[in-house]
Amino acid sequence: MLLIHCPYCDETLPEAEFTYAGEAHIVRPDPSVSDETWRDFLYIRSNPKGPHAERWRHAHGCARYFNAIRDTVSDRVLVTYKAGEPRPAIAGEHGQ
Ligand SMILES: [Zn+2]
Repeated sequence: MLLIHCPYCDETLPEAEFTYAGEAHIVRPDPSVSDETWRDFLYIRSNPKGPHAERWRHAHGCARYFNAIRDTVSDRVLVTYKAGEPRPAIAGEHGQ
């Protein structure tokens, strides 16, 4: 079971309190871009082995969205941060 820290409530709670909401930091393209760019925006997601930026929602608490860096190898949440904040650097992470 994952334990996730809500940066708004400042509590660490079981995963069942939260819902996964997809990859974080996906930038919506300008409406005038090509169909291929829209396809990529809608359907193409990264699938890294290691730290991955994700959106989560504290569905059974404050109901707010926030971001988390989860290591896909260990399945541990390394850090959480409020929506709109920049992605924090993770020690030992390369190529991000
Ligand atoms: Zn919360």
